[in-house]
Amino acid sequence: MDYKCNYFCDHCSVSANPYCNNPFPLEAIKKLLDEGKQLGFKLVVFTGGEPTLDMDKLLTALRYAKNLGYITRVVTNGYWATTFEKAMDVLSKMKDAGLDEINTSFDDYHLDIPKRRWSVDPAQYVYIVKASIKLNIRIGIGLIYDSNSLITRDFATKFFVLFLGLTPHEVEKHIKFVVDVPARVGRASTEIPDEKILQRELPISGCSDIGKVYGLHPDGRITVCCGHAIFATDAYDIGNWKTEENPLSKSRERASQNLIYWWLWTNGPKKILKEIGIHERTTHICDACKILMVDHRDEIIEYFKAHKDEILINDVLLNTRARETVEFIKKQEVKV
Ligand code: SF4
Ligand code: SF4
Repeated sequence: MDYKCNYFCDHCSVSANPYCNNPFPLEAIKKLLDEGKQLGFKLVVFTGGEPTLDMDKLLTALRYAKNLGYITRVVTNGYWATTFEKAMDVLSKMKDAGLDEINTSFDDYHLDIPKRRWSVDPAQYVYIVKASIKLNIRIGIGLIYDSNSLITRDFATKFFVLFLGLTPHEVEKHIKFVVDVPARVGRASTEIPDEKILQRELPISGCSDIGKVYGLHPDGRITVCCGHAIFATDAYDIGNWKTEENPLSKSRERASQNLIYWWLWTNGPKKILKEIGIHERTTHICDACKILMVDHRDEIIEYFKAHKDEILINDVLLNTRARETVEFIKKQEVKV
């Protein structure tokens, strides 16, 4: 919706702050929702910055998306939930407008704990969860932590058990926790010492989001995914909604014709890094992608030019995800 935010978190990969002022125009949002619907998109996520800062626009966009049949999600820092009544009021309005799922973040960074200040009242998360359960809105909570963090997955469960009066099983049933580490882009790249960032050892795998989850940005960019690496380079740009007619279908066509994206889909950035002989510390899949597409962009292009045919045949067409790839191509009705 905008990169404007009333918080100023150290780990913010989009460098959101109170002084940003680049709102996504409502008419453009509606047009993109219309086109997305025609192309078969199912889920829309309104995020920022803090998307509730312009509540009227958010409610109108939610209503418009719901009328078109989208599943809707809002990602918010939850600053508005100063009391349970206030949380009920804001969430009821969003629910009436068509909200299906609310996502917020409960961690040291949002609470500003690294600076030893509880500048955000942790009670707001209790009010949000309580109100969401009452209104039957699905709730996801992001937990980002580093080696010094107080709030871990275990801490969060105990916190909600204690303050919601639920059993651990009930907490797990109502809240979908998503654990992550700070991405080394945006403000995080300067504000968080590298050695504090934990390494999430995920299996080496292809990226399942690329080409499926598009990022639509207030400045006009359309990106081929929403991973944090997109904020460090234009290598993921596939279109521009400000300058093009039917920008989503053109973007989809461009994405489908880019072999590097297919390579990321089938092999994933970690395997590709290994293949071209780069052995650097990676913290998660999008961090590996940033190392590949930003820090070693020239090397990957050189390697790619020299091995294009092998990549197309062995890595993309004969890969272990071949069946899934063919199904995906058929469903998207795209050319390769
Ligand atoms: S991480 Fe979220 S809450 Fe924090 S500054 Fe960025 S957009 Fe705002
Ligand atoms: S791994 Fe790369 S392509 Fe996949 S979501 Fe992350 S940044 Fe995007």
